[in-house]
Amino acid sequence: RRWFDSVGPAAKDPLQAVTEAFNSDPFPQKINLGLGAYRDEQGKPLVLQCVQQAEEKIRGCNLLDSVSAPVASATLVEECVKLVYGRSVNVVKEKRFAGVPALSGTGACRLFAEFQRNFFPESAIYLPDPTWTNHHNIWANAHVPVRTFHYYHPHLRGLDFAALIDDVKNAPDGSFFLLHPCAHNPTGIDPTEDQWSEISNLFKMKNHFPFFDMAYQGLATGDVDKDASSIRIFLEDGHLIGCAQSFTKTMGLFGHRTGCLSLLCADRDQAVRVKSQLQRIAGAIYGSPPVHGIVLLSTILGDQALKSIWFKEVKAMASRIQSMRAKLRERLELTGSSLNWEHITKQVGMFWFPGLTPEQVDRLAKEFHVYMTPDGRMSMAGVTTSNVRYLANAVHEGSQ
Ligand code: PLP
Repeated sequence: RRWFDSVGPAAKDPLQAVTEAFNSDPFPQKINLGLGAYRDEQGKPLVLQCVQQAEEKIRGCNLLDSVSAPVASATLVEECVKLVYGRSVNVVKEKRFAGVPALSGTGACRLFAEFQRNFFPESAIYLPDPTWTNHHNIWANAHVPVRTFHYYHPHLRGLDFAALIDDVKNAPDGSFFLLHPCAHNPTGIDPTEDQWSEISNLFKMKNHFPFFDMAYQGLATGDVDKDASSIRIFLEDGHLIGCAQSFTKTMGLFGHRTGCLSLLCADRDQAVRVKSQLQRIAGAIYGSPPVHGIVLLSTILGDQALKSIWFKEVKAMASRIQSMRAKLRERLELTGSSLNWEHITKQVGMFWFPGLTPEQVDRLAKEFHVYMTPDGRMSMAGVTTSNVRYLANAVHEGSQ
């Protein structure tokens, strides 16, 4: 037997292909808007003050100490749950949540997908169309059937709310839906509060389960509470809720893989049982996430002063992105373009989704040296005062 002869190459990660093309382009004004990571006004990655101060605080701590890791994990989960549902809600007091630290947002989603397959083996997951491409891989690899629901309206470059509602109505009662609570990836389009209320009401009638994937809390409006308002509408309506949280983008903790999976349960006893199952499932895949990230995140979220610094920093990141949206729109309007660019400032969060065709995406890279993911998603975090004018002209000419 010749081992591995049957193993062909996996499809190339689209982002990796974009990065490679960008790196090999010698043009000095080239712009990489592929990677969805925050960059500052100089186009550099940002190490947050709250992270630096927390690193300072935990330097010298014995991370192998068998007492400190469980305490840090418990703090992490409790603080994450407060971030989702609000500081003063009863969820935490009543201990009706089952939460575990997860391997960042990806790991939290995968853990939930495994939980879904274990306990609801007949069910599918409904994903928005489009969504973060990895959502498809995560649920498919966990052997959960994947379906989609309408989300983006190409003509409006906004939400196709009527079609979304139809899909929610037509899904079998008791279906699982993945929702982006804020700063939808890749479209930057979120439902309004009234629309969220309507979705939540309909979920109640249909007994659907809402699973929120929260990767950008704070980066939509600059306010972590406002960005969680969608989930809090579901909380008020009495749903049980799942939530994956990532701090990769919002704290710049790329390599630490810090995150949380929490499930809001009916009562404390149920929460204890559900948590034990999450731990069992994680135990069979990877055990638990690395302790450094857990201690780092719990130090930031568990310390009022550090948490306040983070709130300010996430607000500053969101403000810079918002001001780049305004500048880009202004610049595009100044080109004399006859197209409507209003959607740039209407969309929120890290991404701009102008609805480009694959040919336009290709042309922008080859002729104008502007790189983005193949779906035409551009990271607004890569836009700066020094490249916004070039970008506007390129997009204007490239989308003729
Ligand atoms: N969920 C969404 C919607 C995302 O956009 C991302 C990252 O791009 C993630 C989850 C996963 O993030 P990570 O695993 O890096 O925390």
